[in-house]
Amino acid sequence: MFWLRRDLRLGDNPALTTAVALARERGGSLLPAFVPEPQARPQRAPGGAARWWLWHSLGALDGELRRRGSRLALGRGDPAVALPGLAHAAGAGTVVWAAGLEPGELADDEAVARALAGSGVEAVIVPSAGLLFDPTAIRTREGRPYTVFTPFWRACLNGPAPAAALPAPEALPAAPPEPAGLALDELAAETRIPWAAGFDGLWRPGEAGARAGLSRLLRGPLAAYAEMRDRPDLEGTSRLSPHLHWGELSARQVWHAVAGQVAEAGFDLEAAVAPSASDGEGAPSLRRSAGAFLRQLGWRELSSHLLQHFPQMPARPLRDRFAVFPWRDDPVALEAWRRGLTGYPLVDAGMRELWTTGWMHNRARLVAASFLVKHLLLPWQTGEEWFRETLVDADLANNALGWQWVAGCGADAAPYFRIFNPVTQGRRHDPEGAYVRRWVPEIAGLPAAHIHAPWLAPGTVLTAAGVTPGESYPAPIVEHGEARSRALAAYDVVRHAPR
Ligand SMILES: Cc1cc2nc3c(=O)[nH]c(=O)nc-3n(C[C@H](O)[C@H](O)[C@H](O)COP(=O)(O)OP(=O)(O)OC[C@H]3O[C@@H](n4cnc5c(N)ncnc54)[C@H](O)[C@@H]3O)c2cc1C
Repeated sequence: MFWLRRDLRLGDNPALTTAVALARERGGSLLPAFVPEPQARPQRAPGGAARWWLWHSLGALDGELRRRGSRLALGRGDPAVALPGLAHAAGAGTVVWAAGLEPGELADDEAVARALAGSGVEAVIVPSAGLLFDPTAIRTREGRPYTVFTPFWRACLNGPAPAAALPAPEALPAAPPEPAGLALDELAAETRIPWAAGFDGLWRPGEAGARAGLSRLLRGPLAAYAEMRDRPDLEGTSRLSPHLHWGELSARQVWHAVAGQVAEAGFDLEAAVAPSASDGEGAPSLRRSAGAFLRQLGWRELSSHLLQHFPQMPARPLRDRFAVFPWRDDPVALEAWRRGLTGYPLVDAGMRELWTTGWMHNRARLVAASFLVKHLLLPWQTGEEWFRETLVDADLANNALGWQWVAGCGADAAPYFRIFNPVTQGRRHDPEGAYVRRWVPEIAGLPAAHIHAPWLAPGTVLTAAGVTPGESYPAPIVEHGEARSRALAAYDVVRHAPR
C-alpha cells in the first residue's frame, strides 16, 4: 500500500517510487490510499476552502492513477486505525509513505507505524520531497534552530543543492480488486461548502493543473516578479501556493524549472539566489526576479523549520512577552473585517477576494492582517483561524508564520510599531485602483485619486460616482490616526512587560 498525505502527485514522489519498486520486486499489487484528516483534530483538519481543493485534487489524482492501471482507496478516521484496516482488507504486507513535515504528521508517522507493526504489517517511511532542503539538518553553529530568515537561507544555500526531481512512473502495479476502501463520492458530502461558487473555473486542483501553473509562471510572471510581486492589481505572482501546499508540485520541481530558465538566459543561479546579490538594482530583471521568487520558497522552508522546532507556533506567540498583549474582544469589528466591510478599500478588497476565490494576494494579506491586529487590536489567532477556514492554500506553517510576522510576535517579524496605513499602501500598490474596483464594486466609479479613501473625496466626486459614505459603502470603522496611537499604547504594555 502507498499512503498519500500532502504529496498528491505522481511526479517527483520518492515514496511512490519506493512503493512501486517494492511491489514489482515482490510480484505484488499496489494500492494507493488517502485518509482525510479527521475533522475532530482541531488545527490539523483542513478548513472549508482547503477541503474543497482537496476533494477536487483527489478526483484528479484518482483519474491519473486509473490512467496508469491503478485507483485511489479512501479510509476514514484516525490514520492509525484506518490504515491497518485498509491494509488488512487489501491484503497488504507493507505500507510505504513519505515522512511527515508538521509535528502532528510526525506524531502520526509513529502511531501508524506502531499500529501496523501490531497487525504484522511492515512500515516503510521515506524522506519527504516536500521541501527543498532537509529542515531538520539545518542548525546554527550552536546547534540551535534558525529564527531569522537571512542566515537560515544562507545556511540552506550553503548545503547540498536540491536533489533532482524524479520522473512519474509511466505505469503502476495493478491495485487489488475492489472493494478495499471507500470510493471518492462516499465522502464528497463532507467537502461541500456553500461559498465555493467562485472557485470553479478559477482553479485547477491536481497535478496537471499544478504543472500548467508552473508553465504559466515561467512564460509570464517570473521575468518581472521582483517588480510586480507587490501589485495585487496585476497577476504578478505564481499562484502556486495551493498546489505547493497539497504537494501537487514539489518545491524542487519548481526550483529546477526556475533554475533552468535562469541558466537558459545565461545567468548564474548562485548569484541570483544569494541573499545579498539578487535584489541589487541594475541586476538583470530575470536574475533578480528568479532570486526574489526562489527566496519566497525559502520563506516556506523557514516556516516549516520553525513549526518543527516550535510546534506551538500556530497558537502561541513565539515571543513570550506578547502573552500580556491587551487584545480587545469586538465581535462586530471582527465580522466587518471578515466580510470586507471595514471602510478601508484595500482591506475590504483583500477580504472579499479571499471569500470569493479562496486566495488573497500577499500584499493584501499583509495589509488586511495588519489591520485586524493593529487597527482593531483583535488577536492574530482569530485572523489565523479565519484564513485557515477560507484559504485554499491554508497551511499550518505558512499561515502561522505570516500572522506572527504581521503581529510582531514571531521570530523574524515586522516591528510592532511599524503600522501599515491602508490608504498609502493602496495608493502605492494599487495605483490605479483596479484591484479595489474589482472587489469593491460599490465604489468602482471613484477616480484613482480618491478610491483608497472615499471619505476624503469631495461631495461632487462622490455624487458623480454614486457613492454615499456610510450608506453605499461603510465609513471607516476606526480612524487611522486614533487606531495607530491605540496600537502603540498597547505595544507599550508588551515593551514594559518583565522579560
Ligand atoms: C497573514 C498571512 C497569512 C498567510 N497564510 C499563508 C498560508 O496559509 N499558506 C501559504 O501558502 N502562504 C501563506 N502566506 C504567505 C503568502 O502570502 C502566500 O504564500 C502567497 O501569497 C501565495 O501566492 P503565490 O503562490 O502567488 O506566491 P508567490 O509569490 O508566487 O511565491 C511562491 C511560493 O512561495 C511560498 N511563499 C511565498 N510567500 C511566502 C511567505 N511569506 N511565507 C511562506 N511561504 C511563502 C508559497 O508557497 C508560494 O506559492 C501568508 C501570508 C500572510 C501575510
